[in-house]
Amino acid sequence: MNMKIKKNDNVKMLAGKDRDKTGKVLRVFPQERKVIVEGLNIVKKHSRPRKEGEKGQRVEVPRKITVSNVLLICPKCGKGTRVGFKVTEQDKHRVCKKCGAEI
Ligand SMILES: [Zn+2]
Repeated sequence: MNMKIKKNDNVKMLAGKDRDKTGKVLRVFPQERKVIVEGLNIVKKHSRPRKEGEKGQRVEVPRKITVSNVLLICPKCGKGTRVGFKVTEQDKHRVCKKCGAEI
């Protein structure tokens, strides 16, 4: 399946408590059409102490976000944009729908 969002893209969150925040895509899950974005959709988990006498730690873990809830930020024009595709014989490029730049 073709994902419009790729690893290392900068995206903007469109919904939820992190609405309008931006972050870098760390992982993509094409099967689920979900992404994990640095600093977005964070849940705090408590990890159990590994050794006796040690305190449990709070760790912050980014949860998966449905791709339709994020918008790609175009590296050329800096705007949040939907992604189009430009298909050539050899390749398929992503194109910013705002400025037309290949991404
Ligand atoms: Zn653009």
